[in-house]
Amino acid sequence: MKRLFFLIALVGSSVCYSQPQTYYLTADRVFDGEVLHEGWAVIVEGDKIIAAGPRSSVKEPAKAIKVNFPNSTLTPGLIEGHSHLLLYPYNITDWDTQVLKETDAYRTARATVHAKNTLLAGFTTARDLGTEGAGYADVGLKRAINEGVIPGPRLLVAGRAIVSTGSYGPKNYDHDQQIMLGAEAADGNDLIRVVRDQIGKGADFIKVYADYRWGLNGEDQPSFTLDELKLINEVARSSGRVLVCHAKSKEAIKRAVLAGAETIEHGDFIDAEIGKLMKEHNVTFIPTLAAVDVISQYRGWKKGVTPEPANVTNKKKSFKEALASGVTIGMGGDVGVFPHGDNLLEMELMVEYGMPVLNVLKAATSVNARTFHLENQVGFIKPGLKADLLIVTGDPSKNISDLRNVKFVMKDGMVYRSEK
Ligand SMILES: [Zn+2]
Repeated sequence: MKRLFFLIALVGSSVCYSQPQTYYLTADRVFDGEVLHEGWAVIVEGDKIIAAGPRSSVKEPAKAIKVNFPNSTLTPGLIEGHSHLLLYPYNITDWDTQVLKETDAYRTARATVHAKNTLLAGFTTARDLGTEGAGYADVGLKRAINEGVIPGPRLLVAGRAIVSTGSYGPKNYDHDQQIMLGAEAADGNDLIRVVRDQIGKGADFIKVYADYRWGLNGEDQPSFTLDELKLINEVARSSGRVLVCHAKSKEAIKRAVLAGAETIEHGDFIDAEIGKLMKEHNVTFIPTLAAVDVISQYRGWKKGVTPEPANVTNKKKSFKEALASGVTIGMGGDVGVFPHGDNLLEMELMVEYGMPVLNVLKAATSVNARTFHLENQVGFIKPGLKADLLIVTGDPSKNISDLRNVKFVMKDGMVYRSEK
């Protein structure tokens, strides 16, 4: 059935390009990115929202296509904050095998399906945090989506991402072999050249692994010095791009924040001190709760049956500290570790770990939009913004899992999914 609707969407898209359509959308509830309203209507013309407000003031235009589903909620298209479209779940194929043995062509072919599944789940924008050994396949994927060759979310991409020498995987192979890493290694002043090279090849932001599990006992320890991170940030900033850091340990988070990183990815060991520092520097925390949850299950944890593993307990603790400290929390699950299209899992865990439901909805819309500097394009329902819209049945402001009941997905004014 999904395939049939997608076909309809594609047919619709060719019409849309030649002659802009007007849509009149109504729903029982409209979440505008910040507030939930009842009795609202939204008008889309071409690729833009041109009106949104109470039905008494937003009248149905002549010749508009009417969209309405019973017991429905209309939201901005959701924004995935941390994806890896070039990866797929490790319980199907482990990370080392994907990175080392699969060709970029094979991985890109899979990524086109991942992109489609992401969009059809209502995620109309995604920030992708590195191809993990597939070069700049993400830059090509983004281009194909933007040109309408394949369906997918609008993308912000990292390209290869940067690690320090010695700190990343694949690990523990015979050192006689040169093993290709999941990201580009660079250190010291060479970071200037590598950051500029990644920018030149299409990176929208610079993603750095600020720590790695290379401590004496396998614990997360910083990889780059503070000065190295500052250097990366300075070079990235001068091109109008930002630094974002994978950082789990306290020290790596501290260095990343002081160096000027805009987002902290993972953040497994946030405490009151680190939470305060992140808040003071206006850094957004992207928690990736789902990655830790599913990896623990891949390793044998039977959720609700066997005792909770330490990494899950730590993650819950860290997330609660971030909430208590008032750190801005965005939404990003590290999807790819788990199936693309199941992005909602992260939002369900955010609720499970104590975040108010409405704030989780904001995290995946207005908060992520502001964090990624896209607030003048997406993440809100208001006139002038792109027509990226999602309709689900039920009320996700009360039950976040209602976002799984997808009825309608629009991106750039084009309908990609419309269930009956
Ligand atoms: Zn990641």
